[in-house]
Amino acid sequence: MSASPSAETGASRIAVIGLGQMGLGMATTLLGKGFAVSGFDPSAERQRLAREAGVTVVAGAGEAAANIVILSLPLARHVAETVEGGLLAGLAPGSVIVDTSTSEAAVSRRLAEACAARGVGFLDAPVSGGPSGARTGALTMMVGGEAAHLDVARPALEAMTAKLIHVGPSGAGNVAKLVNNLLVAAHLITVSEAMRLSEAAGVPTADVLKVVNAASGRSAVSEVNYPRWIENGAFDSGFTMGLMRKDVGLAAALAAEAGLELPVSGLVARLWAASAERLADGEDFNRIVALSPEGQTP
Ligand code: NAD
Repeated sequence: MSASPSAETGASRIAVIGLGQMGLGMATTLLGKGFAVSGFDPSAERQRLAREAGVTVVAGAGEAAANIVILSLPLARHVAETVEGGLLAGLAPGSVIVDTSTSEAAVSRRLAEACAARGVGFLDAPVSGGPSGARTGALTMMVGGEAAHLDVARPALEAMTAKLIHVGPSGAGNVAKLVNNLLVAAHLITVSEAMRLSEAAGVPTADVLKVVNAASGRSAVSEVNYPRWIENGAFDSGFTMGLMRKDVGLAAALAAEAGLELPVSGLVARLWAASAERLADGEDFNRIVALSPEGQTP
């Protein structure tokens, strides 16, 4: 006989803007844990699915009568348009916007300043764990921004996550996410090359993976992606080539901004960019393993 989270947390009213693969999963998790959730997405199909899940769908981001607003949008541009195009103007001081999109640090810092001027918090809070992590409340969330704002949103964010990490000031969450995804993008290419080598030398992928995953060459790609989405041919992770190409491009831009030359990461970025000729944006991101560095399917 426990009180609802709303009662326990001083009646947090939560809105989720962007009810796609990630956003709807997060909204569903929050509903399942007793939070009242409203939301908006311009897609009629996503609105229908959200209503079916129990979300109160509103007519626009500016209509979100909430004090915690979670964003899950494709690009930094959509985040800025949403915040500056009516969302911020409609929020009461003390509210907090939590941007879980994989966005850009410079955009987050600018929006955090604009929000602060109106007494509203803005956290960059990108996530790892994919649609299944969103649906099951098992995301890893990396947060940039002020601790006081994080404390306001914490009960809702803890309901959505298995790991909630406050990385540092505004933008730090975005930087951490791009660093993480640059590594995943690189690992997909290096593990697929290592598997081609193993096969060519006479040891099948399934056999060598047993060793790699019990030894020091393992990574999330070898431990999770290969068995769950690649070896069985499922390629249904819910994360697309288009979104990963965006992330790799943003990581490359971050390196350029910092004046860093990163030769291996540069090659990884070029391979992912070149994959656009053979793999459409909507394809599963794991399909990169089927492209050899020469751009030929093996
Ligand atoms: P998605 O394309 O499934 O969902 C995005 C949703 O945003 C769509 O339903 C779209 O209609 C909606 N949208 C677009 N413009 C909007 C606007 N102005 N206002 C409200 N809604 C709008 O994408 P996704 O896979 O859910 O990813 C969302 C974000 O999370 C991206 O930034 C992505 O990089 C990041 N991310 C995705 C994954 C994953 O595995 N899918 C994992 C971690 C992070």
